[in-house]
Amino acid sequence: MDDELSETPKVHRVLITGASVAGNTFAWWMSQRGSEVTVVERHPEFRDGGQNIDVRGAGRKVLAKMGIEDAVKEAGTGETGIRFVDDKNDTVAQFGLNEIGANGPTAELEILRGDLARILFEACGEHVKFRFDDAIRSVRQDSETVSVEFESGVVERYDLIVIAEGVGSSTRELVFQGENSPRWLDVTMGYFTIPKAPDDSDLCRIYTASEGLSIWLRPDNKGTTRAILVVQKEADGEEDLDGPGQKNFLRAHFDGVEWEAPRVLNGLDASDDLYFDVLRQVKMDRWSKGRVVLTGDAAWCATPIAGIGTTLAIVGAYVLAGELSNTDDIGAALKRYEEIMRPFVEKGQGVPKFAPKMLQPQTRVGVALQHAILRIVSTPGVKQVAAKLLMPSADDIELPDYPASANAWSRVLPV
Ligand SMILES: Cc1cc2nc3c(=O)[nH]c(=O)nc-3n(C[C@H](O)[C@H](O)[C@H](O)COP(=O)(O)OP(=O)(O)OC[C@H]3O[C@@H](n4cnc5c(N)ncnc54)[C@H](O)[C@@H]3O)c2cc1C
Repeated sequence: MDDELSETPKVHRVLITGASVAGNTFAWWMSQRGSEVTVVERHPEFRDGGQNIDVRGAGRKVLAKMGIEDAVKEAGTGETGIRFVDDKNDTVAQFGLNEIGANGPTAELEILRGDLARILFEACGEHVKFRFDDAIRSVRQDSETVSVEFESGVVERYDLIVIAEGVGSSTRELVFQGENSPRWLDVTMGYFTIPKAPDDSDLCRIYTASEGLSIWLRPDNKGTTRAILVVQKEADGEEDLDGPGQKNFLRAHFDGVEWEAPRVLNGLDASDDLYFDVLRQVKMDRWSKGRVVLTGDAAWCATPIAGIGTTLAIVGAYVLAGELSNTDDIGAALKRYEEIMRPFVEKGQGVPKFAPKMLQPQTRVGVALQHAILRIVSTPGVKQVAAKLLMPSADDIELPDYPASANAWSRVLPV
């Protein structure tokens, strides 16, 4: 493949792979600016699943620029804070949204992943061509164009390919073979939906058992409860487990755990939406190669414990589209996109490896120590400072302003 761009064409035809948060945000901005945009998604139809995610600081500003911030707010889960509990369900510490503001563990925009992705998908409307049940098989590029063969056998040419396939992206491996040096965080998480119980409120409840285990129960806006099972241990092939294997893994770890574990495990058995994530960060020395560029989790997955992955996906898509609209030189735009995003990504990925160990202690003494620290940290006055120090903030991402093109969708697309 030729890495050099010999000329500087404007992006007329763009292909995006992955119809989730990053892909749909980028599709919206590019189509709004008059490009001909196709999104190919491996899943047979739009993927609605996924649990609680949040959008912070600069991510909210991008949603506001798109005119969908209110829609996202209205579709929110309604979570109002976090309560750490002991095995009797008594409160150990509580952090409310109203006490510590939007930069606490619960952000101001808490929404289910599928709801956010759908709002973005619907915002694209007829201006973007979505193709489901297909994926890229091979990519060939030269200085003029990039040619793609799909699994379906279709062959097409584009000016640019944007890979937004999430952490396990296969097209990234095809184009940037062996370039990802993942940073494993020694945590596995299972997310799924269970029936709501009387003790489930609009607060997220977190129970820390010993042996590296914790259970999170979070509210949603659908009359159900979103459960998260966390196992802190070095990965040992868990990433290769199939659906039943993933459930067995979680059951084996949480059998015999106190608090509401039996109810959560019953919910796990009955669930059909388990999202299983063996946490690893994506570490790439470069995000583009010729006319192929990575964005969102496929480029820089920070993992859910960083608390900023969705915000970075939205901001990254906005910056990439903005830089492409600023110049006719694709190579220069991709370079600038990387220069702008790198510092935020590096900060977002800076989760220390001991953080999951502190959140999921191995021993009962460790849990008692954690509770003692939480009690101190949650006292009035201290909790505001602690939230500032410990939680991710996206307020310091300085969002570049790109020229708007309000009438782009009424323009005739270039051929
Ligand atoms: C079904 C699902 C459930 C999730 N649930 C949670 C959750 O509960 N909690 C949490 O913190 N994060 C969850 N995430 C991850 C979260 O959405 C991302 O961390 C973040 O929003 C950044 O999004 P992204 O668009 O970069 O990647 P993702 O949201 O991971 O989206 C990637 C998209 O690319 C598609 N895709 C993958 N490979 C290919 C391919 N070869 N060709 C075409 N399309 C492809 C996928 O089907 C998906 O639609 C979930 C992601 C998905 C896909």
